[in-house]
Amino acid sequence: MAPDTLTTCSSPKDPLATPRKKAFCPFCGGSLSRRFVEGRDRLYCEACATPLYENPVPASCVVVVDNEERLLLIKRNVPPKVGMWCLPGGFMELSESPEEAAVRELREEAGIAGRIETLLGVTTNPNPDYGTVLLMGYLVRSWTGSPVAGDDADEARFFPLDDLPEIAFRSHRHFIRNYLLIRS
Ligand SMILES: [Zn+2]
Repeated sequence: MAPDTLTTCSSPKDPLATPRKKAFCPFCGGSLSRRFVEGRDRLYCEACATPLYENPVPASCVVVVDNEERLLLIKRNVPPKVGMWCLPGGFMELSESPEEAAVRELREEAGIAGRIETLLGVTTNPNPDYGTVLLMGYLVRSWTGSPVAGDDADEARFFPLDDLPEIAFRSHRHFIRNYLLIRS
């Protein structure tokens, strides 16, 4: 691969970078152009004669509270928002349900085995790699274990709900607010 080709990959590590753009068809490897299709300007593969539809990527996260009404947060060590606190969560894998993804991410990122109680909401967040992330937020009040930082986290611990650090994502703040509304 020519050096020029290597340097054209936009860095996903820079949270201030403009959203990454797809350059090649994932099916045939041909160059992508743009075409107005079905009401939108879309990426288009001339060789496949088909638009490349781009859609939000689904992810799940969890509001985990203990019996002292404290909230579990993790300190991020991967972009975006390295060093900030957020809810445990992550992207769904293929063939996984949103609930399964939430429980798995909770175990991987915070070492907690939890049971989902209810859905707190569904919302979207902009993302430099995927354009838009579709987030499901779940409540977990029944769980076992003690917080241990795992994948994607430098720390995992409980904070009093009235003394939270700044939360990295608007969507996560939305789920925390929804929990505060339903808990009473
Ligand atoms: Zn193609």
